[in-house]
Order: sequence, then structure tokens, then C-alpha cells
Amino acid sequence: MDKYCVNKNTDNPGGNHEVHEYSCSGLPEPENREDLGEFSDCHGAVKEAKNRGYSKVDGCIHCSPSCHKE
Ligand SMILES: [Zn+2]
Repeated sequence: MDKYCVNKNTDNPGGNHEVHEYSCSGLPEPENREDLGEFSDCHGAVKEAKNRGYSKVDGCIHCSPSCHKE
């Protein structure tokens, strides 16, 4: 299991909130992170972010490439 967070801001051209593993080198600043908890893969983390009201969610290309769409 890995810990994931979602960026409270949208910082990419697609206007998505990106989901990251905490080990990611491109992690958002602490004040811009919302902790999502632990998941076996990024798909669970994306689903959790959507449950919390982030409608546009995408996986980080660096740490969660299998969830990265745009
Ligand atoms: Zn990342």
C-alpha cells in the first residue's frame, strides 16, 4: 500500500487535480495537498478524490502513469 494525496489546485493544461504518491518528486507544496489515505494503486486514490468532490482528477505522469490520461 502507498500513501496518496491530491493537489487541491489544478496545475496542468487539462485542468485536472493530480493524484500523487507521497514518494513523488513532483509532489505539490504541503498547503496544496489533501491527504487521501493508503491505496494499493493509483486507481483507488483517483476514485477517493472523486468521492471527495474533485470532479476532474488525473494521475501524475511521474508517479501514477497508469492513471495518467491527459
Ligand atoms: Zn506524482
